[in-house]
Amino acid sequence: MTLEMADNAHKPKSARRDMTSGAITVAAILLFVGTGSSALSSAVKYYFAAGDPTDRTLVIALLLNVALILIGWRRHNELRREVEVRTAAEERAQLLAARDPLTGFLNRRSLAEEGAALLVQAERRQKALAMLMLDLDHFKTINDMHGHATGDGLLRLVSEEIGRAMPSVALMGRLGGDEFACAFLFDPAHPVERIAERLVSRVAQPFVSDRLQLQISASIGIARTDHGCASIDALMRSADIAMYAAKNAGRNRFAWFDQSMERELKARNELEVGLRTAIPRQEIVPYFEQQIDLSTGRLFGFEVLARWEHPTRGLIPPEKFISIAEDIGMISDLSLSVMRQACLIAKDWEQNLSLSVNISPLQLKDPWLAQKIVKVLTETGFPASRLELEITEVALFDNLALAQSIVGSIKNQGIRIALDDFGTGYSSLAHLRALPFDRIKIDRSFVGSINVNAESAAIVNAIVRLGESLNLPITAEGIEDAAIEERLRAMGCSKGQGYLYGRPLTAGNARRLLAEKRLLRNAPAKAPDLDVSDDEARKAG
Ligand code: C2E
Ligand code: MG
Ligand code: MG
Repeated sequence: MTLEMADNAHKPKSARRDMTSGAITVAAILLFVGTGSSALSSAVKYYFAAGDPTDRTLVIALLLNVALILIGWRRHNELRREVEVRTAAEERAQLLAARDPLTGFLNRRSLAEEGAALLVQAERRQKALAMLMLDLDHFKTINDMHGHATGDGLLRLVSEEIGRAMPSVALMGRLGGDEFACAFLFDPAHPVERIAERLVSRVAQPFVSDRLQLQISASIGIARTDHGCASIDALMRSADIAMYAAKNAGRNRFAWFDQSMERELKARNELEVGLRTAIPRQEIVPYFEQQIDLSTGRLFGFEVLARWEHPTRGLIPPEKFISIAEDIGMISDLSLSVMRQACLIAKDWEQNLSLSVNISPLQLKDPWLAQKIVKVLTETGFPASRLELEITEVALFDNLALAQSIVGSIKNQGIRIALDDFGTGYSSLAHLRALPFDRIKIDRSFVGSINVNAESAAIVNAIVRLGESLNLPITAEGIEDAAIEERLRAMGCSKGQGYLYGRPLTAGNARRLLAEKRLLRNAPAKAPDLDVSDDEARKAG
């Protein structure tokens, strides 16, 4: 079977019928042209001059011929209409496959395809190609607050602004959600920075959608082909990395891609991969920072601080991995694992010593948090009355009602709640009253500079007075020297912690310290010397 025959065999029935009727029509026309004139004269003779009866056959043939031509003509018209409808449908399908239906922008695949073609063109003309990646900041809040229809309306408005900001020949794509990408050739008449700057400031202006005034901002990353991006994929990846750098730098801005971002990302990816196994392997361990009663100098408890004892990289501080754990959804596992280890370690410490454990704002969105904490306490046998949870104000923004109900269940178990890092966030009185806090912790940024900065001193003083009037005890963090301690005591601050009393300690060193102070329930006769594996020795606190 030839290819053509095979093709014909696969053609639908109607198409084969069309071909047959076409062939018949053509044959009929040829027949008509060949025999028409003699048949016509025979017909005239037959009717008007009672001619030869053999002409009758010719007349019938003529009529049949005409009928065939008419049928063929009708079929031809039907066919033409069908082809038109099919072509329109194919064009529409192609358009839908290439474009985002909401904004009319190219989708990711088509942007990559057309971008690759533009790149070839750029190379031929010895020009550079710029890729600009734009992501809206906190767009989810708009959807959550006003619904998806309003969110879609805003995306359309933003796409219109992007269209207005771009040079006339630019590829514009929506990569999904609230992420857009544009590619265009470098042109001194349209400096890329100016385009990005204008776009950032326009998106930060209010939009009106569904008669609602919507406030949003955008982060933009830019990469260019003449800075080491050989393919369109590499260019898009670099612009994406730069966009995340813009987000990390505080959002509502643009950033150019540079190689150091790539290295940072690689390091972060390594930490991310490592973290997944580090938690179950208990490489993330609790360190213990002393908390002191400022009026008596007595040790009354410890803040539990996570440290990653990395098998090859040494001790990694929490600021390097807490946010990664939050991003990959492992923060709950991490905090609960640290809490569990700390509760087991502190089981035979003196009964009055408390543990303060940090809780991530994300954990306050977990309706099962209270149950998970109670499970840790039951399994380790650590009393709820000795546990305090430190939460920051950020935890109260997203869903205050949920946070209130979770904190309510936690407090019902007899666990105390402290508001951490007070003074750095909104420091709102409404938040202080929204939850039944047992303590406020003043952030170390004010405490550390209390003797050198009048403003810090005024803030610390105001927080201490606030605590007095609300009947909430205050703990000052970051006491680094005796002068700070003295000043806090004079202000009436009752509790404190900081490097003055020592760096966060390993479990072993905390135990040795307690043995020395006779604060262990089964204290050994003589406490051995502190080992060298705590924060102080490694200077990682
Ligand atoms: P934080 O809860 O405000 O913890 C206090 C931080 O201040 C600790 O840093 C501590 O080492 C440091 N610090 C204490 N005294 C001084 C001082 O005198 N001077 C200075 N400059 N710093 C001092 P660290 O351990 O690096 O913890 C940073 C943050 O990481 C913590 O802030 C907390 O928000 C978070 N974190 C730590 N462990 C955990 C955890 O297990 N779970 C969660 N979710 N977050 C944790
Ligand atoms: Mg804390
Ligand atoms: Mg703090």
